[in-house]
Amino acid sequence: MGRVLIIGAGGVGTVVAHKVAQNSDIFTDIMIASRTRSKCDAIVEAIGNPAIQTAQVDADHVEELVALFNNFKPELVINVALPYQDLTIMEACLQAGVNYLDTANYEPLDEAHFEYSWQWAYHERFKEAGLTAILGCGFDPGVSGIFTAYAAKHYFDEIHYLDIVDCNAGDHHKAFATNFNPEINIREITQKGRYYEDGKWVETGSLEIHQPITYPNIGPRESYLLYHEELESLVKNYPTIKRARFWMTFGQEYLTHLRVIQNIGMARIDEIDYNGQKIVPIQFLKAVLPNPQDLGENYTGETSIGCRIRGIKDGKERTYYVYNNCSHEAAYKETGMQGVSYTTGVPAMIGAMMYFKGLWKRPGVNNVEEFDPDPFMDQLNKQGLPWHEEFDKDLEL
Ligand code: NDP
Repeated sequence: MGRVLIIGAGGVGTVVAHKVAQNSDIFTDIMIASRTRSKCDAIVEAIGNPAIQTAQVDADHVEELVALFNNFKPELVINVALPYQDLTIMEACLQAGVNYLDTANYEPLDEAHFEYSWQWAYHERFKEAGLTAILGCGFDPGVSGIFTAYAAKHYFDEIHYLDIVDCNAGDHHKAFATNFNPEINIREITQKGRYYEDGKWVETGSLEIHQPITYPNIGPRESYLLYHEELESLVKNYPTIKRARFWMTFGQEYLTHLRVIQNIGMARIDEIDYNGQKIVPIQFLKAVLPNPQDLGENYTGETSIGCRIRGIKDGKERTYYVYNNCSHEAAYKETGMQGVSYTTGVPAMIGAMMYFKGLWKRPGVNNVEEFDPDPFMDQLNKQGLPWHEEFDKDLEL
């Protein structure tokens, strides 16, 4: 019996629902709940399995969540709503005795600030309740941490240098669009950059450091150093790391739009007065930008995300590159969503599968790299995200 509740009916939620439904030997009872119930119903219709239940819930309210949990009685909640809801959903899980999984760390609505402290603070309570919380189980964070754990387990005595490289070489044929929730995406990218070196965090200007990196089957793409949340847990869990960085590709057209959006104040996250009404510019912008869920139809090209690692094995230096390439067209054919939603939703489903198989059960709050990576890596190959390895090549970084 695997009773699972998916919260959030966006691009990622749609993929999670498709993949959960495909694995009916594990997930026997499924519910999708979100702020807008009609979106949940549309997903069920697209999947064509009327046994999947739907519900309306405002996940900002603990008591609404607890009532829903007590009614459906899930064993695990997959939280693919927005990062703002992480803490209310975790709180409700504790009150109703439900296990928890998410794909993005908590962010307060009024401050674009990324750190795990708020969620790690729940560790003792989850542990005492005998409940498992799995944090950051998308692709990055998520598979990036599992790739690192796999490298540490099989190929290195000590990891010294870690570079997570994330390329989207797809084309959605729109002048400007974000691949996941625009508000979350723009908040993340317009932040100052940050990386870890010799025990300290080094801050950079926003997108200040960049260089071309060559991606398999794609070629060289300009890649920009960003702060990304998994760096925080990875340097804690692998203390031999001397330097950890995260790189993401952006096209010139995207960056020009982003600069204009920032310069004209549309990326602001504080409230402004408009004709006597309070609005938050970035939320208004989200309402006029293309919906990431609608990008899939004409999306061509592929994503390539991986870890480039340098360290020591048996006293000798070695390098290792592990990556997945995902075709937007193939993702759309299977789930109706583009590759970025797909690469996030598939790992979330696999994490839930690991939980229900009893392989990733550990009371407390855990980041993905704290679990055994092997069965997860095996499922990536089976569930649509096959990975490849290269040894002792030039990492470019
Ligand atoms: P979307 O904006 O497409 O979907 C979010 C969904 O959550 C919507 O259905 C929305 O409802 C629902 N929601 C928002 N607020 C509430 C609320 N208060 N109560 C109930 N439901 C709510 O986002 P994505 O699907 O693109 O992203 C989902 C998550 O995945 C985000 O947290 C994002 O950060 C994360 N992500 C992680 C990645 C990774 O690799 N780790 C990569 C990409 C995304 P409504 O439809 O009514 O607005």
